[in-house]
Amino acid sequence: MFDIDAVRADFPILSREVNGKPLVYLDNGASAQKPQVVIDAITQAYSQEYSNVHRGLHYLSNLATDKYESVRGTIAKFLHIADEDQIILNSGTTEGINMVAYSWAMPRMQAGDEIVLSIMEHHANIVPWHFLRERQGVVIKWVDCDANGDLDPQAVIDAIGPKTKLVAVTHVSNVLGTVVDVKAITEGAHAKGVPVLVDGSQAAVHMPVDVDDIGCDFYAITGHKLYGPSGSGAIFVRKERLAEMRPFMGGGDMIREVTRDEVTWNDPPMKFEAGTPGIVQTIGLGVALDYMMGLGMENIAAHERTLRDYARDRLNGLNWVNVQGQSATKAAIFSLTLTGGAHAHDISTVLDKKGVAVRAGTHCAMPLMEHMGVGATCRASFGVYNTKAEVDVLIDALELCHELFG
Ligand code: PMP
Repeated sequence: MFDIDAVRADFPILSREVNGKPLVYLDNGASAQKPQVVIDAITQAYSQEYSNVHRGLHYLSNLATDKYESVRGTIAKFLHIADEDQIILNSGTTEGINMVAYSWAMPRMQAGDEIVLSIMEHHANIVPWHFLRERQGVVIKWVDCDANGDLDPQAVIDAIGPKTKLVAVTHVSNVLGTVVDVKAITEGAHAKGVPVLVDGSQAAVHMPVDVDDIGCDFYAITGHKLYGPSGSGAIFVRKERLAEMRPFMGGGDMIREVTRDEVTWNDPPMKFEAGTPGIVQTIGLGVALDYMMGLGMENIAAHERTLRDYARDRLNGLNWVNVQGQSATKAAIFSLTLTGGAHAHDISTVLDKKGVAVRAGTHCAMPLMEHMGVGATCRASFGVYNTKAEVDVLIDALELCHELFG
């Protein structure tokens, strides 16, 4: 059973006030709050169990190493990945996708080779590919979503030509909430011999994800959106792709032997994990994923569907609000503009006065904003601890904006 009051009690920050009002935290798409178990795990790790990992032969180093390494298994369980050696621990999605760009794509793409992206990508899944465009003449092919924010998987598959080397798509849009059929895209791309990278930053937090079932080659997640610490994350890399990848960053841990003239690499995944990692951050991520799995990903998804439907009905009932993206199966992420033309920054400032935290701007998705023809939006993104009553607070605050700005 999903007990929302018990869930809310797990997150200490939710009992604080902001600007004299109870906090209504609707900026989960940017970063989620942390449950007490994660905060406690961080304190415990630093106060009782801290040491560097992989190096020492002493008690604390072994303890920290065991705790850190066990997170690989937790992530494998969370994402349904049979072989945890395909999981590279890192600082988040941005690092994961940059690693794929440098280590896998760069050495194997020539001028004129193509990469297919959806128009809904976050800059983290655009800018690394622009590096390849600028530096080696790679061509980016864009596939648009429709007016509802839906992305036709066949349109992505059709965009794959003989020169396409990679398809890179988000699983859930951080602006529109659209859930992309990444399994169909992967099947179609693989039928044409092209690997697929999925940006799972926004998906893994809202719904059960089965990476082995999707069948993609790369799947990136970021810990701070998963109720874990910032600076934690991971990327799944399929064995065949791991074998094709040259090392990313060089340093300790990723080598087997270094001499004056030569260097040999450690086995994957260590080959791609140079230097002292975010030890405590990763341990905290493991606890956060255990927390989510304890609640049950199906339960979390069901709770958020209820919130989505309620918020959608209430927002669509206001004829002075435009909700960007009306995909039927979307996640509970709402990007709004007011028909009166009020600026998103002004709206979010008024909302903040009412204790409601939302994001205003272009959400690191400028090509999508241009495609939709909007300059900036206010984004209310829901999480596991949000309630219908908080939707009502949001609506009341928006009504005040309507009175003030038209
Ligand atoms: N992709 C998507 C869809 C995101 O929403 C975000 C975070 N806003 C990222 C990538 C980047 O994640 P991070 O900054 O944690 O690396």
